[in-house]
Amino acid sequence: MNNTGVGDHPAVFEEIPCPICGSHTHQQLLSVADRLKSKAERASDQPQDNAYKIVACSSCGFLFLNPRPRAEELHKYYPSGYYDPHLSSGGGLFGSLFRTIRHFMLKWKEVKVSRDLSTGNLLDVGCGTGEFLVHMQKRGWDVSGVEISPDAAQIAGRNGCNVLVGDPADLNLPEEKYDLVTLWHSLEHLPDLSKAVDKICASLKTGGRLAIAVPNPESIDAKFYKAHWVAWDAPRHLYHFRSRDLTSLLKPRGMQEERTLSMLMDPFYHALLSETSWVTGLKSWFRALRGFLVGCISFISGFKPGQGSSTLFLFRKH
Ligand SMILES: [Zn+2]
Repeated sequence: MNNTGVGDHPAVFEEIPCPICGSHTHQQLLSVADRLKSKAERASDQPQDNAYKIVACSSCGFLFLNPRPRAEELHKYYPSGYYDPHLSSGGGLFGSLFRTIRHFMLKWKEVKVSRDLSTGNLLDVGCGTGEFLVHMQKRGWDVSGVEISPDAAQIAGRNGCNVLVGDPADLNLPEEKYDLVTLWHSLEHLPDLSKAVDKICASLKTGGRLAIAVPNPESIDAKFYKAHWVAWDAPRHLYHFRSRDLTSLLKPRGMQEERTLSMLMDPFYHALLSETSWVTGLKSWFRALRGFLVGCISFISGFKPGQGSSTLFLFRKH
């Protein structure tokens, strides 16, 4: 690809070295559009406006967005409604189905991350409107959250959660306080990855658990949808982690990998959303059916740990 790309706007975008190994050389893997722009907006764009580049580090293979919006620009790419509280309060069949699945997923998350732990202090980084915190609070955990969106944090606060507003890299998190720190699809959003991970790891007690869920760029649905895979989500997702990337990032910080699991519902979520954001002339019923089938295949592949559409990594601090 030879698009000049978004890097032609240095006031808004920056080129970065590999956030894992520091190498300055990489190869372009894909050019992707912002899925949250409307189809009409995308059609009227100049080609370079769609040219968000996912690159692979030449040294360690890590996949990341490069160039990317500068940290102070990132908020402009999160539309209002990114955290939609109405989703959980809708009526009718859809609302009931959504709440049932959400409750099931909260229970699944609780069981997977807190197995063999007694209750204690929990920090959820990127807690959104606080659903997971509320769920865990009811089960006896002393909960705190970090959330960069003031609107989402305000909703979490109304739900009774203690939430620090900001990027974890910029906050003074207490050290050695937490028994469990969770990041549900939030690590890939943090612009200063190294500093944020330093603070997060320091906040854990020795023996504490770190649970990180991220989309899997090596999943079957990622390979099927290629540039149309929803979880590239440029320019909001800045990194795309494989197991070895997280190990490289966390092992020097005293973290030992315990367990890898596939996230249960993400294959369907990713496949169906990839279908809806992929601009094609195909009939909607065909795309819904194809999305469901791709989701099923990815779901089955996820029985092998680390092969699913999203992966939950459990690490223990030594
Ligand atoms: Zn690298």
